[in-house]
Amino acid sequence: MRCFDTAKIYVKAGDGGDGQVAFRREKFVPQGGPSGGNGGIGGAVYIVADKNMNSLDGFRKKVHHRAEAGKRGLGSKCAGRNGRDLEILVPPGTIIRDSRSKTIIAEITKAEQRVMVLAGGRGGRGNASFKTAKNKAPMIAELGEKGREFWAEMELKLVADVGIIGIPNAGKSTLLASVSAAKPKIADYPFTTIVPNLGVVERDYERMVFADIPGLLEGASEGIGLGFEFLRHTKRTRVLIHVIDCASETCFEAYDAIRTELELFDEALLEKPEIVALNKVDDIEATERALQMKEKFDAEGISSHCVSAVTGEGVEELLADVQAALRALPPVEDAWAADIAETGVRAADGKSIEDFTIDDTPYAFVVAGEAIERFTQMTNWDYFESYKRFGRVLEMAGIDAALNAAGAGEGDRIIIGDFEFEWSKDRRDRTLYESFRQRVADAPGGQRGSRHWPHAS
Ligand code: GDP
Ligand code: MG
Repeated sequence: MRCFDTAKIYVKAGDGGDGQVAFRREKFVPQGGPSGGNGGIGGAVYIVADKNMNSLDGFRKKVHHRAEAGKRGLGSKCAGRNGRDLEILVPPGTIIRDSRSKTIIAEITKAEQRVMVLAGGRGGRGNASFKTAKNKAPMIAELGEKGREFWAEMELKLVADVGIIGIPNAGKSTLLASVSAAKPKIADYPFTTIVPNLGVVERDYERMVFADIPGLLEGASEGIGLGFEFLRHTKRTRVLIHVIDCASETCFEAYDAIRTELELFDEALLEKPEIVALNKVDDIEATERALQMKEKFDAEGISSHCVSAVTGEGVEELLADVQAALRALPPVEDAWAADIAETGVRAADGKSIEDFTIDDTPYAFVVAGEAIERFTQMTNWDYFESYKRFGRVLEMAGIDAALNAAGAGEGDRIIIGDFEFEWSKDRRDRTLYESFRQRVADAPGGQRGSRHWPHAS
């Protein structure tokens, strides 16, 4: 079985539906008033833990994941239908990062965890909601907010439940190889100098991850080659298997030496349930030593098993014991302290339209600010009233004044988000109307985001 542990996928929240411009038309109801409904909200994107999954395999085949868009508003003040949310199933232990900023967006550690990573785009308002005492027949509606998108890097971290410790040559690697069939390669493992071998053991439909932790005695506690990463990893394991090389005459001292080493690392390690594997009992001399030691361990109440990693003798009993020890422990909920970014919000939520910056680049003035960018994107240039509203908002937000102060002159290019237009101080309705007409003439059928505000160029 091939086991993929990393994947890169594209996720996008659903766009909001556009608002509608409509008027109530009914017999005997003169001047029925505006009735264009709001657009529906776009579908959100959730990452959901699925404990039946154990690899990121499936994401090789399906890379693009888009939530459904909201439907556009209808007449009779009917709002458009909301887009359906999208659930992306991942195995527990998956970390999702933004591929550009590398910030962690979600860590799925426990079963049934469900994290919203992208909120759906807001629906555009229909003309019914633009009705005011002054403007009883508004000819304006907003476009839906574009759903946000990003490339997500996913990494499946197998948290080792069981750490295999022991002196070099005790048979740790051999034991790991004999208990586990699958040996997933773990990319970017948090070890700097050594990579522990991980093995997955499936037993009674339960998954146990074993880690062979090499070289615990090889100067580890002095920090030679092994850093805190190593320590952290050992600390994450929940049960330790202490392998003893019974073929060696020094095996009696070896046990204490390793325990001392653990203590030097971190006393908390001594608290972990430990199961001793008295290895190499395929050898007669080793078996004798193993039995002697077993008596000693039994007397001390330490669980031990005579095994041979080579022949597999006693390994099954050892595994059963390990599994029982794991089951006896309380479930780990938050195995990792997570600094999860706040992601379920739309980019502009809670941002003020007065929060913007102006960048005077050689080719254009770039106005940046989440709220003003969203407002601009949602402006529907198919309606003349949108032009006026846009102008009012620029003024209210102080963008007008700021651009003038920055030296924007007639005909200079202004960029807000994806929208680009020419600067002019002339805000008379007539001028605005001309650029609106010009745009309609240029792009019949409505091509959005024209460059003709307020002037036709
Ligand atoms: P590690 O350093 O603890 O990972 O030890 P290894 O797994 O590399 O094993 C060291 C040596 O002991 C190898 O030559 C193995 O073949 C041998 N070995 C491991 N387990 C057994 C066993 O159960 N019986 C015998 N006879 N040799 C073993
Ligand atoms: Mg080894």
